[in-house]
Amino acid sequence: VAETKQQHDIVFRSRLPDIYIPKHLPLHAYCFENKSQQGSRPCLINGSTGQVYSYDDVQLLSRKVAAGFDRLGVRQGDVIMVLLPNSPEFVLAFLGASFRGAMTTAANPFFTPAEILKQAKASKTRLIITQAAYYDKVKGYLDVQNDARIITVDSPPEGCLHFSELTQADENCMPDVEIKPDDAVALPYSSGTTGLPKGVMLTHKGLVTSVAQQVDGENPNLYYDKEDVVLCVLPLFHIYSLNSVLLCALRAGAAILIMPKFEITSLLQLIQKHKVTIAPIVPPIVLAISKYPDLHKYDLSSLRVLKSGGAPLGKELEHTLRAQFPNVTLGQGYGMTEAGPVLTMSLAFAKKPSEVKAGACGTVVRNAELKIVDPETGLSLPRNHPGEICIRGDQIMKGYLNDPEATKSTIDSQGWLHTGDIGLVDDDEELFIVDRLKELIKYKGFQVAPAELEALLLTHPNISDAAVVPMKDEAAGEVPVAFVVRSNNSEITEDEVKQFVSKQVVFYKRINRVFFIEAIPKSPSGKILRKELRAKLAAGFPN
Ligand code: AMP
Repeated sequence: VAETKQQHDIVFRSRLPDIYIPKHLPLHAYCFENKSQQGSRPCLINGSTGQVYSYDDVQLLSRKVAAGFDRLGVRQGDVIMVLLPNSPEFVLAFLGASFRGAMTTAANPFFTPAEILKQAKASKTRLIITQAAYYDKVKGYLDVQNDARIITVDSPPEGCLHFSELTQADENCMPDVEIKPDDAVALPYSSGTTGLPKGVMLTHKGLVTSVAQQVDGENPNLYYDKEDVVLCVLPLFHIYSLNSVLLCALRAGAAILIMPKFEITSLLQLIQKHKVTIAPIVPPIVLAISKYPDLHKYDLSSLRVLKSGGAPLGKELEHTLRAQFPNVTLGQGYGMTEAGPVLTMSLAFAKKPSEVKAGACGTVVRNAELKIVDPETGLSLPRNHPGEICIRGDQIMKGYLNDPEATKSTIDSQGWLHTGDIGLVDDDEELFIVDRLKELIKYKGFQVAPAELEALLLTHPNISDAAVVPMKDEAAGEVPVAFVVRSNNSEITEDEVKQFVSKQVVFYKRINRVFFIEAIPKSPSGKILRKELRAKLAAGFPN
């Protein structure tokens, strides 16, 4: 990290005044603090079954789950792993762990056994909550940690427990826990600016701050009111959905419509049926909506906010959507797991849909500082000059789990988190992202860490060196492609390389193209010159 070298940084702040944030409260207590979260008001609506859980139900069940965790030996500071599609059980497990003072690490249920095992081992998971169908993928963990337990939300295979063991526990048996603001509560995995995926410690204070920045105060962001119905289609194992959909909606007392997986027709049907008012989505879903031939057949008039985030939204796509939904506020949010995750959001000042500027990712959240730094010199830059986006505030991560080195190279000594994204702030305080400095590849908003794929490629005996970089793709935004150096005399083919990788990784990390080259360009210190490889692709390589 280039340390700040100047005495007076040029710092951008929200034009909205700072607000009071109850940082002393544990996350669950903060989420359920208000009157609007009490009684029979709908809290979770299961989109698959129509079953509704009231705010009272969710609070009671979460406390029961916490007591159940305790009975199964989960202690304060322990980690539980959730490997589930979006479902009420996901929410109850997360909130139950919060009540117990434990942390939740969630992963994509489509992960391969090796990917799951890596995360479970690194986080020392005590207990895995999943579906029976995934039992074969997770059971290997029991060989590593023989006192770990597996709980399934459907009929449990031998040796596993059913989720009702948790929801039927006696909530009065939960021991008193003293949760400190700096205790971690969520442990998402992210590769950050470089290297392999790492556990990102998000604390009670951090998530309380982030949620407050979005929905507290006088609701200046025009969203998450107690009358709202919020669509929860983005996977809850990603912090964007966990924080900006679930936690924000809980805090506001809104109803949350849970969809286990994205499918465009059922999405539109559910919006119509449940009169969804707020739909946080990602660019590939924007694309699917904008291209849907029968869009006009659905009554989507309940919608008032469509928010895209997680990856860049193309300007043309944004224009198309605006034309299709003239009365809806279309905003963008910009986040990064390590930042808690929200840095900026579009809706801070907009009173009318037309006031949101196309292409902008919004303005910095309240109670936070943002600066743009010249990556070479470390000096902060004035508005309209692109540089690395840095953020500071109580919402950012405490650090990476067991990795002080990686933490130090992401958060500098003055508390600034360096995002690895290049952007500028314009005259109206709006942030525009123009490039990505870091290695990360984003496939439909999902993280692909080049270092992980490179390490895998290097285990192949016929590959002597490899580098993985993003290539633009209309449907996915970006796909990973590999530059590969064959070992002496090897004739390994593109298909063989692809198959070798695809057997070992979740679908979105599959290599899309393989380019064979003589040598990987590297700096004198041995760092892969990714920019050069990206430039080669942009110039039409290999043609
Ligand atoms: P993640 O940690 O998975 O949320 O990924 C964070 C990264 O996604 C950011 O550092 C950006 O590179 C990218 N990203 C997130 N939101 C946006 C956005 N609205 N526009 C462009 N890139 C984004």
